[in-house]
Amino acid sequence: MKELVDLGVMVFREKNSRGSFKPHLSIKFRSTEGKLVTFSIDTTRTPAKYQQPDAYLITHAHSDHNGKSAMLSDRSVCSEKTAIALEIRHDRKYAGRTFKVGETIDVSGVKVHTFPNFHTVGSTSFLWENEVGTRILVTGDVKDASMLPKCDLLITEANYGDPGDTTCFFDDDLEGFENAVRDNPSIAFGAYAFGKAQRAVELLRGFGYDGVIEMDEKSLSLTRTLLEDAGELEYLGNCCGDSICIVPPWDLDKLPSNISKFVMTGRSDYRYPAIQISDHLDARGLVDMVKNIDPEFTVVYHPNGHRPGRFAKHLDSIGFNSLSIDQIENVLSNEFV
Ligand SMILES: [Zn+2]
Repeated sequence: MKELVDLGVMVFREKNSRGSFKPHLSIKFRSTEGKLVTFSIDTTRTPAKYQQPDAYLITHAHSDHNGKSAMLSDRSVCSEKTAIALEIRHDRKYAGRTFKVGETIDVSGVKVHTFPNFHTVGSTSFLWENEVGTRILVTGDVKDASMLPKCDLLITEANYGDPGDTTCFFDDDLEGFENAVRDNPSIAFGAYAFGKAQRAVELLRGFGYDGVIEMDEKSLSLTRTLLEDAGELEYLGNCCGDSICIVPPWDLDKLPSNISKFVMTGRSDYRYPAIQISDHLDARGLVDMVKNIDPEFTVVYHPNGHRPGRFAKHLDSIGFNSLSIDQIENVLSNEFV
């Protein structure tokens, strides 16, 4: 079995000046031209006085992937739509470079290919090759892995990767969603402003609903800017009758009591009925993804908590050599990067 050293890659974590771990990880390798290159992945910026990585790769605009920090570096790299989402969400200017998902870009002499993973609008997986021919794929969070290429080193997520946890197994309840729309003349959905709200609009239009969709300000701004075929969207009015409303889950309480309310979530701790619509692969989906990609080695780098460890252990047990982020022993402080 090949180890990271055989693949010509060093995976490491960084400590910030306070001595705590920066989120996620960085990777050092030699480019096909023999140059030593460092890519930081979904992590926060290193203070300007220290040596910078060659790039901050940002897979998507969810807060737990730290684009809010990395977006201020001119070395940040993300898709055009991720950059727009970051600017709207954080009300600051994106300082890095962008690409259209599917394009191949040159990052510090490394040819980086980009792929959609359908987790959010603009979300991207990155693939490149190092000096010894190792194909390195960073997936970010994944909803649909069908467009992802084969690789030798897979760096991936485990949001629902614990095979011993029943809540990690689910299917999207598209039928329940469609029935709720059909059966309730006056209806509102609780959905997070970035990610879920755009998925809700896409699904509604996919069902053939062509009426007005009312949204809160942030959701409206993100959806109008990011979705090409969103149909007629309006700012939240009285929300009772001719339109469907989409607001963040915690704003459902503020809407009139006579309308039917649902939350689009996998969680069950809301006071309104939940409709299971996820932005993620479940545990089976993650395993199928790894089997299809068939890497020599896998590093599970996200999220926080025990799931990366549980997923890596499971992958090991079915024959995929794996490491989770908490097992990475290379730790550098700012001075040594
Ligand atoms: Zn995410």
